[in-house]
Amino acid sequence: MKPAAFSYQAPTTIDEALALLADAGGDARILAGGQSLVPAMAFRLAQPAMLVDINGLSDAPRLAEEDGRLEIGPLVRHQDIRRLTPRRPLTAMLSTMAQHVGPWPVRSRGTFCGSLAHADPASEWALAVVALDANLTLESTADGPRSVPAGDFFSAMMATSAREDEMLTAVTIPDLAAGTRWGFAEIGRRTGDFAIVLALAIYEMKGGRMSRVRIAVGGAEAVPRRLVDVETVLEGTAPSKPRFLQAAEYAADVVDPLEDGYADALYRRDLVRALVLRALQQSTR
Ligand SMILES: Cc1cc2nc3c(=O)[nH]c(=O)nc-3n(C[C@H](O)[C@H](O)[C@H](O)COP(=O)(O)OP(=O)(O)OC[C@H]3O[C@@H](n4cnc5c(N)ncnc54)[C@H](O)[C@@H]3O)c2cc1C
Repeated sequence: MKPAAFSYQAPTTIDEALALLADAGGDARILAGGQSLVPAMAFRLAQPAMLVDINGLSDAPRLAEEDGRLEIGPLVRHQDIRRLTPRRPLTAMLSTMAQHVGPWPVRSRGTFCGSLAHADPASEWALAVVALDANLTLESTADGPRSVPAGDFFSAMMATSAREDEMLTAVTIPDLAAGTRWGFAEIGRRTGDFAIVLALAIYEMKGGRMSRVRIAVGGAEAVPRRLVDVETVLEGTAPSKPRFLQAAEYAADVVDPLEDGYADALYRRDLVRALVLRALQQSTR
C-alpha cells in the first residue's frame, strides 16, 4: 500500500525540529531511521500530516563514552552500537545485543532512540535501558529538556510517557563496574525477526557472591521490566546451577504473559523460564 499524503520538513537544528512539532499540534511525527514508521505509514496504521526528518540535524548529540557513562543521541544507529569496542562490560553487552536487532539494512538505518520511542515490548534497547537504569532526555519548545528514568518511560504496549511535541534527544546509560558479569538471551521465529521473549542478567561479584543483581525481561508483558523479586532471590548468594534454576522458575511465576499471534501465555511463560536461565548461565562464561 501507499502512505496517505503528508508534508515533509527537514530541519537542521533541534530547536527547528521542536518548533515544527509544536506548531503541528500533534499531527507531526519524527522520521529517524524510518524502519518502523515507514512500514506503519505504508499500511496506513500511521497517517501523520507532517514528517519531521531529523537526519540532517547538525547539533544532535552523537555517541559519546565519557565520565563513567554512555551518551546516545537521536541519530545513533543500531550499527553504531554494534561497533562499540567491547573493552568494558557495558559496551560488550550492548554490542552483542545489537547483533540481534533486525537484519543488516535495519541495523544500518534504524536508531537507538527511534526504537525506544516506538516502544515495542520486544525491543532489545527497551530492555537494555530498563535493566541499566538509563535516563532519557525529552525536549520540547514549551518546557525545554526534562529527564525521565527509563523505568517510567514505557507506559503500555507501544506507548510511552513522551508527549507529541517532545523529541527524545539523548539517552544516558551509567557505566557498569569493571568485572560486572552479564548474560543476554532471546528467541524469535527467525534470525532478524523481533524476539518473542528476551532476558538480561547483570550482577557484580563481591566475595564470591552476587551483588547489585539485575534481571529484566522483554516481550513477555506489555512493557519490559526488571523482576525485582527474582533479583532478591539471587542477591548475596553464590552463583550456582540450583540457584539459577530457582530464579528462572520464580521468573516464570511472577510474569503476567501476553498472548498474541506469535505465542500464547503458557509458551511465553516457558520462554521466560528458559531465557532467564540461559542469561544467568551465560553470565558465568
Ligand atoms: C524487518 C525488520 C526487523 C526488525 N527487527 C527488530 C528487532 O529485532 N529488534 C528491534 O528492537 N527492532 C526491530 N525492528 C525495528 C527497528 O529497530 C527500528 O529501527 C526501530 O524500531 C525504530 O527506529 P527508527 O530510527 O527506524 O525510527 P522511525 O521508524 O523513524 O520512527 C519510529 C517511531 O519513533 C518516533 N521517533 C523516532 N525517533 C524519535 C526521537 N528521537 N524522539 C521521539 N520520537 C522519535 C517516530 O516518530 C516514530 O513514531 C525491525 C524492523 C524491521 C523493518
